[in-house]
Amino acid sequence: MQPNLSLSLSLEGLPVVVLGDAEESRQALARYRRAGARIAFYDSPEAYLGAVAVPSRPALVAVVGSAAQRSAAGAPDAGWAPVLAHYRTLGVPQVQEPAAGPRGHVTLVGGGPGSRGLLTSDALEALRDADVVLYDRLAPWQELAGLTAAQLIDVGKLPGHHKVPQEEINRLIVEHAQHGCGGRGANVVRLKGGDPFVFGRGGEEAAACAAAGVPVRVVSGISSAVAVPAAAGIPVTHRGVSHSFTVVSGHAPLTSTEHESLAGLAAEGGTVVVLMGIATLPHLAAGLRRAGLDSGTPLAVVERGHLAGQRTTVTELGRAEAETGGCANPAVIVIGEVVRLAGFGAAGAAAELEGLAEQLLAHPAGAEPVGAAPAGGRA
Ligand code: SAH
Repeated sequence: MQPNLSLSLSLEGLPVVVLGDAEESRQALARYRRAGARIAFYDSPEAYLGAVAVPSRPALVAVVGSAAQRSAAGAPDAGWAPVLAHYRTLGVPQVQEPAAGPRGHVTLVGGGPGSRGLLTSDALEALRDADVVLYDRLAPWQELAGLTAAQLIDVGKLPGHHKVPQEEINRLIVEHAQHGCGGRGANVVRLKGGDPFVFGRGGEEAAACAAAGVPVRVVSGISSAVAVPAAAGIPVTHRGVSHSFTVVSGHAPLTSTEHESLAGLAAEGGTVVVLMGIATLPHLAAGLRRAGLDSGTPLAVVERGHLAGQRTTVTELGRAEAETGGCANPAVIVIGEVVRLAGFGAAGAAAELEGLAEQLLAHPAGAEPVGAAPAGGRA
């Protein structure tokens, strides 16, 4: 039997036999219930054989978790084997279902920048096996109902509208892991946008779990720091042009020392990536110029990367305030020569950068700063 990972069947009103341990089957049952199936569930071969009436010709037989493994391995204790053989002779399709995740556990899951396609397969598995999902607004939450039968709890925050304080989120995560799901403890997924450990407060949540003795693991996600520039065709590094990228939070204004450090890196061709930086962009642009970064340094704002309404604004450091006033969150700001490749190097930017790369490779350390390189045409 194949694991049921990629099938999408309508089971509305159809009889489905589910076989497996009650504890392991709780998520599979919830999924079939949600799919509209009429479920006949048996938690042991004895329960099946002792039942007054069993569906004679179900649409599907689902075997959950260890029951599936045992019958698949043909182990002598595979009490389900005769039942499965019976349905096989009737030609009823059989499917393996994974066991629900363990109670009392927490998984911090990175959901990527918001599109379903950028959820990892580990993230999909964790969601499928969860009893409770606590999610953020930037996580791909519109997709959740189709990915999990878990209880969904919105703990999202919008900038400036702190809906649930972080301490309360930490408390909720631990509380659900220990006492959720009917008081017996839940398998909890904490779903966050991007990667949980990139401006995601995942470290605090993991520490809160550890302090409470709740086992916790992390499923890394695709961070908007890289994926959102990529959505606009901007690579954060480019051979010979940018061999560093620095990701900073613009949530609070940077200090002049930070402006100087970033300007230094950017002047060497390094890419500066700013998250949560729309409100502080005028302050950042002015600070970088004061620190000596060339006003002609390319700058892009990529709004709603990988989402409907994605928009890229390409300008340069000296015009940032004037030309990005209409930009709104969520957005990633990219500063550096790589911005010339926006739109995958349209308008000959790739060739232009090639020339720049050759120039830099010919004069490595101490060469003329990239910011002073001839500007040429904008991408
Ligand atoms: N942990 C997340 C970042 C959380 S901070 C990650 O790794 O991506 C939230 C910021 O991420 C937003 O203010 C914005 O700067 C950026 N962001 C997240 N998703 C985005 C998207 N789809 N488009 C543009 N920016 C996004």
